[in-house]
Parts: sequence; C-alpha cells; structure tokens
Amino acid sequence: MDETQKREPLDVVVIGAGFAGLYMLHKLRALGMKAVVLEAAENVGGTWYWNRYPGARCDVESLEYSYSFDDALQQEWHWSERYATQPELLRYINHVADRFDLRRDIRFNTRVASAARDEQNNLWTLSSEGGETFTARYCISAVGCLSLPSLPAFKGRDSFAGRLYHTGLWPREGVDFTGLRVGVIGTGSSGVQVIPHIAQQAKHLHVFQRTPHYSVPAKNRPLDPGETARYKARYPEHREAARQSAIGIAGFPVPTQSALEVSAEERTEAYGMGWERGSTGYTRIYTDILKNEVANATASDFVKMRIQQVVRDPAVATRLTPRYMIGTKRLCLDTQYFETYNRENVVLVDVSEAPIDQITEHGIRTTAREYELDAIVMATGFDAITGALKGIDIRGSGGQSLAQKWEAGPRAYLGLMTSGFPNLFLITGPGSPSVLSNVVTSIEQHVEWIADCLAHLRQHGIARMDADLAAEDRWVQTVNEAANATLLPKGNSWYLGANVEGKPRVFMPYAGGVGNYRVVCDQVVIDGYRGFLLS
Ligand code: NAP
Repeated sequence: MDETQKREPLDVVVIGAGFAGLYMLHKLRALGMKAVVLEAAENVGGTWYWNRYPGARCDVESLEYSYSFDDALQQEWHWSERYATQPELLRYINHVADRFDLRRDIRFNTRVASAARDEQNNLWTLSSEGGETFTARYCISAVGCLSLPSLPAFKGRDSFAGRLYHTGLWPREGVDFTGLRVGVIGTGSSGVQVIPHIAQQAKHLHVFQRTPHYSVPAKNRPLDPGETARYKARYPEHREAARQSAIGIAGFPVPTQSALEVSAEERTEAYGMGWERGSTGYTRIYTDILKNEVANATASDFVKMRIQQVVRDPAVATRLTPRYMIGTKRLCLDTQYFETYNRENVVLVDVSEAPIDQITEHGIRTTAREYELDAIVMATGFDAITGALKGIDIRGSGGQSLAQKWEAGPRAYLGLMTSGFPNLFLITGPGSPSVLSNVVTSIEQHVEWIADCLAHLRQHGIARMDADLAAEDRWVQTVNEAANATLLPKGNSWYLGANVEGKPRVFMPYAGGVGNYRVVCDQVVIDGYRGFLLS
C-alpha cells in the first residue's frame, strides 16, 4: 500500500508558500478545512525567498505591498523604508507565518513534480520529486508568476571556470564580488537593481545589454514615523481604494487628462514631477501613455532626455537609450542605475548587434570578442506566468496535460480555473491582472474569491467545479481585447512570453484593470457562478 492509500484525502493541497499560499492556508483553516501547503524551498517567502541578490527591493511601496486582511497585522508591522528591501520583506513573510501559526501545515523542501486528476474519486493526487504523494479534493496553485528562472541556453554554459549565478536563485550565504571581474547579463528590473551594487564591489563590471530599458529613480527613503502613523490611521480607506483602482495601488493619482491635450511645457513639468516622485506610476500621469503612440512618445522622450543628462559619455548614453515605447516592457525602478555607467570600473557591452555567442572557460564571448571574467550574473528573468505551472506534470480529466493544453498559450476562465481541470484553482493565473498590478492586492482578491467559492460548494453539496469551455474561450477573447486596447502587446516583453525562446507570443495577463476585474468576478458569483460547471 503506498502513502496515498494509507491516508484520508485532504480537503485541499496548495502548491507554494509565498504571499498567495500563506494567505490561502490561513483562509482554508478559517473554513475548517484540512489543508497542506507544499513548498520547494526550505522556508516561506516564494519570490522573496529566492531573489536575494544585492539591491533586491520591491517596486511597490511597503505600506501597499503587504496584506490587508488583518488590521492588527497592518497596524503593528513596522516598515522601515518607502520601498522594502528583500530581507525586510522576507522578515515580514516569516512574521506572518509565525503570527498565524502556519508552518505546521507546510511541507518544506517538497517540490511538486506532478498533479493528476482521479475523475472517478473526484480527487487530485500530487507527487513530489522526493516521491511523497498527497491526495486532496481540491488543488490550489499558488506557484507565483515570476518563480521559474529563465537561463538562456548559451553554448558552453557549463564550461565556465568561474562562478555563475542567476538573480532569482541567489545563494543564501550571499556573494562577495570584491576584487573580481564580473559580467552581468540582462538589464531588466533585476539587472538595474543588482548592477549598481556589484559595481561598487567588483574590480571591474561588464554589463551585457541586449535591450536598453526605461527606468525611473525610486527615490527610496526611510519612512517617517509621523507619515506612517497618518497613513495607518486611514488604512481601510487606502486598501479599498487599491482594490478599486486600475493596478491595485491606492497611491497613484488617477489620470484625468490626455498627454495630448496639454501644452509641451505642462507635460514636461508633469513628467519632471513624476520623475522626482519616483514610482512606476510615471506611465499613469496621463490617461493615454499606454494607449496612444504619440502620447507615449512624450513620456518616453522625457526619460530618454534624463538618461542623456545623467550619463556623461554621450556614446554610452545613446546605447542606454531605449528604443521601444515606455511601459510596453515593465518599467524599472532604480537607485543610481544610470549613474553607475559614469564609474571607471563599469563598461556597457551592447549585445544587440554582436550577441553573446557562447560562455567559455574564461568568460563571455560575443560575436565580436571575448571578455575574461571571474563571475557571471544572469539577470535574465523568468519563464513568467505559465513556466512554473507547465513545469509540473499536471493531468486533468482524461489524462489531458496542462502543458499540452497551453501549448499555443494559456487559456483560463478569469485566470481562476482552466477547463478540463476540475477542482484546480489558480491564484493569479493567466488571464487575471496579476503582474499588471500590485500582486498582493490581486492575490488577496483571488484567495478570498476561492475561499468563498469553496464555502459555497460545501454549503450546496457540490463536489466538482470546472470552467465551461465556451466561457473560457470568451474570457480569453476579453483578455485579448483588453490588451489590444493598450500598447502593451507592442513590446517584446515577458508579458507576451517574448523573453523565452520558443514560447508562444500571447499576451497573458488581463489588462482591463484590477477594479474592473473584481467587478466581473463578483458578478459571476452573483449570477450563480456563471461560466462554471458545478456538479
Ligand atoms: P526581465 O525583465 O525579463 O529582464 C531580463 C533581462 O535579460 C533583459 O534585459 C533581457 O534582454 C536579458 N536577456 C534575456 N536573455 C538574454 C540573452 N539571451 N542575451 C542577452 N540578454 C538577455 O527579468 P527581470 O529583470 O528578472 O525582471 C522580471 C520581472 O520581475 C520584472 O519585470 C518585475 O515584474 C519583477 N521584478 C521586480 C522587481 C522589483 O520589484 N523591483 C525586481 C526584480 C524583478 P531583452 O530585454 O532584450 O529580452
């Protein structure tokens, strides 16, 4: 008899102990459900467990990038800086795990290898890489959207004699780059954060840039106790505003004007203020920056002008100047990023024309020349949104594979369920606002929706829930329309899977706004779980 048969099935098995998995467990406990969370890492934290690279910091303000579900928690937790560092966020997540006594139902060091639907018994069986099995009536994915690191398959990667790192798999003990010749590949959000830190330590830093990216200064600072107290006094209002907002952030002013209906002087002043404010809200200063190419050019040009002002060598400044429309790839937030290129020990290598040909024993060889290095840091991003799920062998009704179903791009109803995989829920799944929002706001909305749904199923004696294929198809269409109403599909971004070779080019998150999305999800419930098959 194997492990599975010896045990009573659980009510729920949750995959992942990051922000989503922890809150899901807390809600399931409140429902009196027997639940277990399976977590690959040895501790809680999800993305904040793995991304320990120097400079790792959130780009949503701490007072907003945190749970709202427990008032005592949000009142008592003290955030020290405007944008929290990775260590502070990890302390917070650990505090939450302890405060709500969550660890006793989390199996650490348990990476899920497969999840198979047993239609006859209406169960899911999950197997870990270590050979353990867990059986439950419901399976909830809390695997995160940016959790599977993408390591480009450079020739000779294993031949490098020095040390090779990925920002999303950073060693727990940290890395000392003192006196080393370091190469960083990638200049997205991770790259712009890690590069200034490595530059300060390393003897020499080569940055291998394929695409110059937009970044605005974070203007991070310690949080003033008076300011925090005033904010906390109105926490419920702020949280509600975030839930109703476009991207799950209360602090971004809601734009009311087109960039094209004001004078050039007025625009320059507004962009200047946006730059000084320091937030990714920069692309939301006007209503149409992400909708109209001419409006977008005005916002893009301002940042380009700033780059030219900051970077002293005009040739380097030109190579650092983005050529795409701002916001169509995720806008970065940095501290001293462009300034770093004024340092004597930093060289920018443009690999857009002379790409990286291979990694050699001694370093990196582009099609132009070889660079000798002691360490290489890949800040090359993630197989976003679908990678972690497709990495698990998930089999639905009739043995259908999720990876196969999503071969031409992910399909999910409301991003919450995918047809043919009954009783499998996806927190921040494809087709939901997820990465286009303050993800904690979106996680809370999904967790609460799923918990309410499970309570409803129990109350009405419903054992099986699936997404209706026609409803799913209509939602995928809605997701496409929402994206096409913006400029977002025009960038070569990971939102589209463009960063991973061979990945289908499909815009994955829902761009219609967090507040609007919440209304749709709530209405679906009011309409008796419209678009779901309950039996
Ligand atoms: P990313 O935005 O996908 O950036 C990856 C970088 O690696 C890009 O510059 C990319 O160039 C480059 N790259 C990939 N393959 C390459 C190759 N074969 N040769 C040369 N260059 C290559 O990944 P990320 O920086 O890790 O950020 C991912 C997302 O995580 C962010 O957008 C954000 O949502 C989140 N994040 C947030 C924070 C924060 O809160 N502050 C920090 C880090 C990450 P191309 O652009 O040409 O593809």
